[in-house]
Amino acid sequence: MQGVGCRPYIYRLAMELGLAGMVRNDVQGVTIEVQGSDAVLDVFVTRLCNQTQADYPALMEVIECGQESIDVVAGDKMFRIIESESDGSPVSQVTPDCAMCSACLNEMADTDDFRYRYPFINCTHCGPRYSIVKTIPYDRPNTAMGAFEMCPKCRGQYEDVQDRRFHAQPVACPDCGPTIRLTDNQGKPIESDSDKAMSHCAAVLKKGGIAAIKGIGGFHLAVDATNEQAVQELRKRKRRDAKPFAVMAASIKTIRKYAIVDEVCERFLKSPESPIVLLDKKENGAIAPSVAFGTNRFGFMLCYAPLHHLLFAENGIDVLVMTSANLSDEPLICHNEQALDELGDIADVFLMHDRDIYRQLDDSVVHEVNGQAAFLRRARGYVPTPIYRDKPAQKEIFAAGPDLKNTFCFVKGDQYLMSEHIGDLVDGRVYRHYVKSVEHLRNLFKVSPEVVVCDLHPGYLATHFAEQFNDVKLLRVQHHWAHIASVLADANEPGPVIGLVADGTGYGTDGAIWGCECLIASLTEFTRFGHLAYYALAGGDKASKEAIRPIVGLLGSDGVKEYADILDHIEPDADKIKLIATQIEKGLNTVQTSSMGRLFDAVSALLGLGAVNRFEAELPMALEAMIQDGINDVYPVELTEQEGGFHLQYTPVIRGVLVDINAGIDKSIIAAKFHNTVCEGLLAMALQARIATKINDVALSGGVFCNRYLANRMIHRLQEEQFGVLWKKSIPVNDGGIALGQAAIAAAMIEK
Ligand code: ZN
Ligand code: ZN
Ligand code: FE
Repeated sequence: MQGVGCRPYIYRLAMELGLAGMVRNDVQGVTIEVQGSDAVLDVFVTRLCNQTQADYPALMEVIECGQESIDVVAGDKMFRIIESESDGSPVSQVTPDCAMCSACLNEMADTDDFRYRYPFINCTHCGPRYSIVKTIPYDRPNTAMGAFEMCPKCRGQYEDVQDRRFHAQPVACPDCGPTIRLTDNQGKPIESDSDKAMSHCAAVLKKGGIAAIKGIGGFHLAVDATNEQAVQELRKRKRRDAKPFAVMAASIKTIRKYAIVDEVCERFLKSPESPIVLLDKKENGAIAPSVAFGTNRFGFMLCYAPLHHLLFAENGIDVLVMTSANLSDEPLICHNEQALDELGDIADVFLMHDRDIYRQLDDSVVHEVNGQAAFLRRARGYVPTPIYRDKPAQKEIFAAGPDLKNTFCFVKGDQYLMSEHIGDLVDGRVYRHYVKSVEHLRNLFKVSPEVVVCDLHPGYLATHFAEQFNDVKLLRVQHHWAHIASVLADANEPGPVIGLVADGTGYGTDGAIWGCECLIASLTEFTRFGHLAYYALAGGDKASKEAIRPIVGLLGSDGVKEYADILDHIEPDADKIKLIATQIEKGLNTVQTSSMGRLFDAVSALLGLGAVNRFEAELPMALEAMIQDGINDVYPVELTEQEGGFHLQYTPVIRGVLVDINAGIDKSIIAAKFHNTVCEGLLAMALQARIATKINDVALSGGVFCNRYLANRMIHRLQEEQFGVLWKKSIPVNDGGIALGQAAIAAAMIEK
């Protein structure tokens, strides 16, 4: 990879050991020629691959190291860095943005350093990358830093191979680099001195004001996270009434005041990728309730840009809401004028700088599942690191991805380049951003796809987009097959596996809306072994918001009458319930579905957690949050064999929940029992599939597995039954991972 200090590190190591030879970047990665005694060469290789050394570049990772003997060039006494003509493959030139390193943090605090308190300090081991790259090769003129000419001091470091800033493209100092300014919501300057801007901004925040802060991947909207009134005001102005806000802090110690941070989560928080990590709330913490109500977790991240560190060093700044600056679900705002234009009614002050952002990037979100990081959103810090597969694809591929939580994927050889989180394409602005992003990445990585792959859904915008490519082979892949294929691709396995999917919606091969499936799947074919029995769902788009719709479908007209008093709490308008029932009866605007997501909505609403998902999965998140630990009871699991596979019956679980509600059983116990039953139901299908196919590996995917209780329990139960479990490591389990599955299927189908 370029820009991570790899070649200088190798140079210094060779010099230290007195070895002669050269290092250069090429398409393969990095090629090194060294000559010396066997013993010293052994030391060289050992140290090269030893990531625990103090001076090892933080961003360098040795993926594979092969060696061979070549003829000695007589008289070669020096070690040289060769500037190669083609500087490696386009994909490996651009690295992700990286959180500030400790060396830079120390320098920024050093009163004698010429970058003392400089908000854009960076080095080869840290700083912005992907977000500032306009085009390749990755050289300063091709980045947002092209606008700033290096001063002699910075240039000296940039050109000195012994220096930490050797070839650090964004290198800058107060004399030559970007600057900070604070303005009011009209763009009128308040402070142009960096220190004064920081303290003024901090003062506004302390008083409960709202600041728009330009960071690495775009603007954040910030308020004091302990000030309930300020947080409510932000919700009101941002028109975001429920979705949890992310919170930033300067240290793990601070986060521990409000949330539980175990060793694993501490590692995620402190990683160079610096994602938002979902953490269990501590009781009685001082974080304002409106930051994240209805869930038992906070999304925390640590300061990652020097600017954040300076702001948080101001008196009285402890924890700040730092939420993506956009209106509801539109794309993130990253340009100064656009920010003033669109956020002028929201933010009181704007803390801005003059370094442009070329790629807007949301903060990534992870949580811990089974002791490992599981992605909920993959963006800043991770993109554009490709996912490497053992087998290179024979043709270049574009995978369009799904319409919700869209990411797309380009394939070039063994590199699967997943885009950052794009969002929900149904929003016109997000769709336009998608089209532009596809174009940008295609140019950046010089891909000319010969194969295009999209979802089977005829109505998806991403599908329409894919259909517009000329002279390509177009493949359409069923949504849940892509879900399972993404797990296979991530694990570098060809399958076949038993694929258990717990998802919201996906267009099925029979025209129904699938969502809880047991597939037997490889990268070249799949069969549907079993699924949640179909129920009727009326109302199109409204069906995923209003829980009464799946409830009526699941209960049927008799059930609706029988439990009228419970339903009355969810939908007081009895006529509306009748209307939905009639719609279903007549098949108007009604689909057949095996959606697991809607089953969760229904049960959440029956337990009194609300009637509407104001944001995606609000009700299921609340249901997970109320689970009582240590409950192992389940409702009856009924799996029936029918033509076309096994059907998991929902009636026993729905009836069980209703009987428990009427019996006054604690709702936290009912919530646990429901989750447990879902696990046992999926497990029952896997057990049947193993008997029928002798396959022992199970891949898990689908948005419902963002539910941590369900994911942990499912993995545990499968392992108890001696299954091998495949769980995704490098991409989200939700629709954010679909494009990888589509791409892997396309790559395998070309070969077939
Ligand atoms: Zn650094
Ligand atoms: Zn300078
Ligand atoms: Fe999905």
